[in-house]
Amino acid sequence: MSDPMSDQPRNNPFWSPAVAQLHPYVPGEQPKTTARLIKLNTNESPYPPSPKAQAVLTQDGLARHLRLYPDPESTELCATIAAQFDLKPEQVFVGNGSDEVLAHAFYSFFKRPEPLLFPDITYSFYPVYCQFYEIEARTLPLRNDFSIEVEDFAIEGAGGVILPNPNAPTGRYLPLADIEKLLRLHPSRVVVIDEAYIDFGGESAVALINRYPNLLVTHTLSKSHALAGLRLGYAMGQAHLIEALNRAKNSFNSYPIDGIAQKVATAAIADREWLADNCAKVIATREWTCAELAELGFDIVPSTANFIFAKPPKVSAEALFLALRERNIIVRYFNKPRISEYLRISIGTDEEMGALVAACREIL
Ligand SMILES: *Cc1c(COP(=O)(O)O)cnc(C)c1O
Repeated sequence: MSDPMSDQPRNNPFWSPAVAQLHPYVPGEQPKTTARLIKLNTNESPYPPSPKAQAVLTQDGLARHLRLYPDPESTELCATIAAQFDLKPEQVFVGNGSDEVLAHAFYSFFKRPEPLLFPDITYSFYPVYCQFYEIEARTLPLRNDFSIEVEDFAIEGAGGVILPNPNAPTGRYLPLADIEKLLRLHPSRVVVIDEAYIDFGGESAVALINRYPNLLVTHTLSKSHALAGLRLGYAMGQAHLIEALNRAKNSFNSYPIDGIAQKVATAAIADREWLADNCAKVIATREWTCAELAELGFDIVPSTANFIFAKPPKVSAEALFLALRERNIIVRYFNKPRISEYLRISIGTDEEMGALVAACREIL
């Protein structure tokens, strides 16, 4: 068998030339057994989801509904999301994970002759979608402290802009005033703000939606809602943008959200109290971990996310990654220019982060 993760273009007479040339996204390791393992590599929640979301799964007769196709419009779920953010239901689009929402956004707004702008260090799915949809990418370098300078995006003839806020994998947050500058720089192109980590301390750009017809904001239940396994993400924007996403979705798969996922997600999103508590716990653990690692001499990028991006002292990031792996602690190492000296460490429970700090102290 060939290595499914190999990035090399291959020749197979049955494959279309297009598929042979793809460079698919490589997700963080999901070990088959997590026993004895401290998993800090894919920014999942260390705590289980809202009990109200969990309760949906034990409801009587849930499985009987599977006989029917689910609501293709996820009506109740969209209405629940809209109510949380003071939007109308027609300003919400849901997808099978925010990755799917992003894929439809790339097709709906960025598939144009002009290049799409995004930072050089960012979510590594963006270049994958560019290749998949044949969109030209123009990357703009982050500053040396990994900050984004909005003026760098003042490029004429752009096909659109996308960036995560806070950025991934750096965790750095861009204030809303800068997002507004970006929206005004490209008034006739869509600006997508990927807010996968916004609940961990940032201020959402959702409040700008009714003032900017070119703003699309995406969220996910995978991180702050502890539902990575459910696969649910959503986009918010003015109705004309949401209509475009629905056109793309209904040309690809009318039923991306199964009926059970619609119910679980609806319960999860309605439970705001649980979300606030869960994020407060993660933020407190993040601040504790940052202080401990700073004391050990790590250089830490200020984080507004559920992970930290840190450069170890004395040893290389790769050496520390491997030494932690030997101690059954998995973090994420990116062997890429400019960030190969950093590790991205997801925030786990207090106990897990205590074990991480102890292991780092020992290794260093
Ligand atoms: C995790 C992540 C996503 C994907 O989230 P899913 O909803 O699990 O597909 C999107 N964007 C960024 C920046 C992420 O880190």
